[in-house]
Amino acid sequence: MTQGSTGAAGKPAAPARSHRLTAFVSLVIAAGAVTAALVWVQQAPWSGWNGQRVILVVLALALFLGEVRPIPISRGDASTDQITISTTSALILVITGPIGFALAVQCVAVLFDDIRSRRSPLKIAFNFSQYVLTLVAARAVFSFLAHHAFLGRFEPFRTYELGAALAAGVTFFVVNLWLISAVVAIASRQRVVDILREDLRFQATTSGVLVALAPVGSICVQASPFLLPLLAMPLLAVHRSATLAIKHEQESLHDPLSGLANRLLFRERAERALAECARAGSQVAVMIIDLDHFKEINDTLGHQVGDERLIEVARRLEASLPAHATVARLGGDEFAVLIADVESSDEAVGMANGMLTALTAAFTVGDIRLSIQASAGVAVAPMNGDDVFTIMKRADVAMYDAKRERARVRLYRPENDTHTPRRLELLTDLRTGVESNQMFLVYQPKLDLGTGAVTGAEALVRWSHPTRGLIAPDEFITLAENTGMIGLITAFVLNQALDQLRSWQKAGLELDVSVNISVRDLGDQGFPDLVAAALERSGLEPNRLTLEVTESGVMTDPRRAIEVLDKLRAIGVRLAVDDFGTGSASLTYLKQLAIDELKIDKSFITNYALDPNDGIIVRSTVDLAHNLGLWVVAEGVEDQATLDGLRMIGCDTAQGYHLSRPMPTREFERWLRARPPLPNHRGPSAELVPFLAFESA
Ligand code: C2E
Ligand code: MG
Ligand code: MG
Repeated sequence: MTQGSTGAAGKPAAPARSHRLTAFVSLVIAAGAVTAALVWVQQAPWSGWNGQRVILVVLALALFLGEVRPIPISRGDASTDQITISTTSALILVITGPIGFALAVQCVAVLFDDIRSRRSPLKIAFNFSQYVLTLVAARAVFSFLAHHAFLGRFEPFRTYELGAALAAGVTFFVVNLWLISAVVAIASRQRVVDILREDLRFQATTSGVLVALAPVGSICVQASPFLLPLLAMPLLAVHRSATLAIKHEQESLHDPLSGLANRLLFRERAERALAECARAGSQVAVMIIDLDHFKEINDTLGHQVGDERLIEVARRLEASLPAHATVARLGGDEFAVLIADVESSDEAVGMANGMLTALTAAFTVGDIRLSIQASAGVAVAPMNGDDVFTIMKRADVAMYDAKRERARVRLYRPENDTHTPRRLELLTDLRTGVESNQMFLVYQPKLDLGTGAVTGAEALVRWSHPTRGLIAPDEFITLAENTGMIGLITAFVLNQALDQLRSWQKAGLELDVSVNISVRDLGDQGFPDLVAAALERSGLEPNRLTLEVTESGVMTDPRRAIEVLDKLRAIGVRLAVDDFGTGSASLTYLKQLAIDELKIDKSFITNYALDPNDGIIVRSTVDLAHNLGLWVVAEGVEDQATLDGLRMIGCDTAQGYHLSRPMPTREFERWLRARPPLPNHRGPSAELVPFLAFESA
């Protein structure tokens, strides 16, 4: 017998759904109670024994014992089922009758088990009715096919009634499974057929054997009630193999540490939810959640603390989401959530925010107080895709957006996706773009906050696509990195920037230039030679060139990065860590890499004047960086208040739209020329006298 219980208690569920659930459960309870009453009014449980007391008592005992050790089947979501081997004894009673007695024994057994397991009165009432309806339906089918009176007394089973007995068994199985599947389907917003399919996978063989044993058991028990214990052997074998099979099935579909669904089960559920979404025109949300600094916790506090943290995360995720959500652990510190039937993407983002709020509350492991930080990406079907692969990929893209932008939750945005058709088309054009000079450089000035002079510029690449127009680096640098084309771009930018610097120098303009390099360049042992050759060709002093590598770039493979950075330093170029604060590197760690310059990421700077937290972070970063002997650049300065504030805390250099956006060479030169002269300083206009000559040359 399958018994179900939905664990929706205490969890938010959509009101419409919970009404449907209450209505269905109430209906089943009422139907069961009325049916039981009707049967017992006409046939009291103790009547109709017909002198077969021993047989009936033995069967009752067998049924009772069969209920005692159920085989639990956890669906890994809000519901659990169990299979019991009492099915065989219950069916024997259904076949032989009397039904009033069968109902009574089954109900006492269920009540005993439910009370022992502390199930709620509602669940007990539902289980009671579920059994009543199942047994009565099976008896009705048997008595109809075998021409027995429905309320007849005990009647021995005869072999020619085998067909009727098996039909009763199938009815028993189907009614029972349908009742519980319907509850689970309503609670979990799935279709009954889908739940039935999932359940059949678990239960078909076991239930088949239990049903098939009923006629055999009937004949045994009639021959002698004492033969019944012999039947216990195959029943125990069924119990054991079912337990093992279910355990195996559970293991293959669940994460052993957290008990959550694994990737496989998540995919299956997502596929079903998406099919339902296409059928019913509803929306499905998929979220990917990634914990921050998980590796550091594992490394510093040990794997046990890491494991406990993951278990806590799993618990909090489940507790904070609606009962019908599927939460899965995809691996490591990555989790996924599937929520069927969301109203809108706003609702999904709201749920993701609520989930992260629950997640980030501090908790203690042993004596240690930990807080969990995480980022979540949300994609909503069918808006963002209608197959599992696409929707998960897009939730993942959104999660990386959230990480990069230091936002907690991000909804998928196609413009940030490298996998859209537009990106794939760009990919094909990229090589031609690099080789046929469609790339060019723009320069963004860097202002020395101590002197007020523009001392350098950052070279930033642009792609002038023949049909698509101007393309920003954010759109093609990752593409180039993923396809090995970045080396070509870096070489182009480096040579072009050095050529430009030499021209400026010839014109008497003393500037430094910064060039961005990619994490891929850091993995290329030949890269330092390329830089050395470019410098030699240009004849410039190496310290005029600063190479910027992002913090996450350094941290991708620190060992390899160190080797290349060491070689670059030996050449004499300056090294800067770009976008500092967006990755996981500590300043002290970066200092060991012997870098010269730290560029604080613009996400901290743009709100510097408004957000006190950013103010504190920037001030302490500047102090610490100075103590470590680093030069500090603030990028993303967008207003005068920020510029003044940065100057006050002793930040060395500023860069940002407030000074100027990145400009093509000529515009950059004009901009520089138009700057007012500095007080007590040989101003740019004076400096630019030779430069003007250069420009007109
Ligand atoms: P980055 O190196 O951090 O460059 C700074 C980016 O911030 C530039 O975007 C710049 O236009 C933008 N920015 C400057 N001031 C402000 C401001 O005040 N507010 C805001 N909101 N943004 C500001 P851009 O040029 O689109 O470059 C984006 C990123 O692309 C660069 O970030 C860099 O990581 C990469 N990149 C650009 N050129 C190259 C290159 O030649 N090689 C490589 N490997 N990467 C490059
Ligand atoms: Mg940069
Ligand atoms: Mg930057």
